[in-house]
Amino acid sequence: MFESEKEQLVEVSLKLYNEKLIVGTWGNLSLRVKDTDGKSLYIVTPSGMEYEKTTINDLIVLDEEGSIVEGIRKPTSELKMHMRIYEEREEINAIIHTHSTFATAFAVAGVSIPMIVEDMVQHLGGDLRVAKYALPGTDKLADYIVEALSDRNGTLMKNHGAVGIGKTLEDAYKAAMIIEKTSKIYLYAKVLGHVHLLSVEDAQKMIEYYNTNYGQNNM
Ligand code: 13P
Ligand code: ZN
Repeated sequence: MFESEKEQLVEVSLKLYNEKLIVGTWGNLSLRVKDTDGKSLYIVTPSGMEYEKTTINDLIVLDEEGSIVEGIRKPTSELKMHMRIYEEREEINAIIHTHSTFATAFAVAGVSIPMIVEDMVQHLGGDLRVAKYALPGTDKLADYIVEALSDRNGTLMKNHGAVGIGKTLEDAYKAAMIIEKTSKIYLYAKVLGHVHLLSVEDAQKMIEYYNTNYGQNNM
């Protein structure tokens, strides 16, 4: 069931691992798919397994109630967070949670990242908030993440990491990469001594352009 989607999930998790956005076994990925009746199912990564050794047979498929439909492994310990995001954000079909270094540095400092560059504003939808702290795997953490993700495709998680979301797995991957890249840029700019922010007006124009005309849209 969902072989190609599972292969895509494994492929993206390995890319994140090779980019060092995921180190060790921490972090997790999920994908929302539809069964033949149009019902939503969720493919998630297993808890605490080495990404380099994870195959499509280690992934778990769950239904909307969180019951396992297929798979022999224990699902990610952040299942509640993934399910809450899908519940709240109907347009989202992929979630990537990382512990990437620069994003986590800001999350530990409790410093949100303002609108500083085009790709961040366009793809993430604005600034990067820091979600309130709660223990990993809890309902409370899931609530805080959903709150911080409002109108955004990414957020920092206090003393923990980051979450990138998207309509597709490619979009969520892009979100995870942009979160880390923007965190790096913000830190470097702070070290250089001056941070010039984008105006709200320009950011709005960039977002509108991205959503309607960017790339191969509207030729
Ligand atoms: P899993 O290995 O259970 O997916 O979770 C690791 C993690 O990032 C917890 O927040
Ligand atoms: Zn985590």
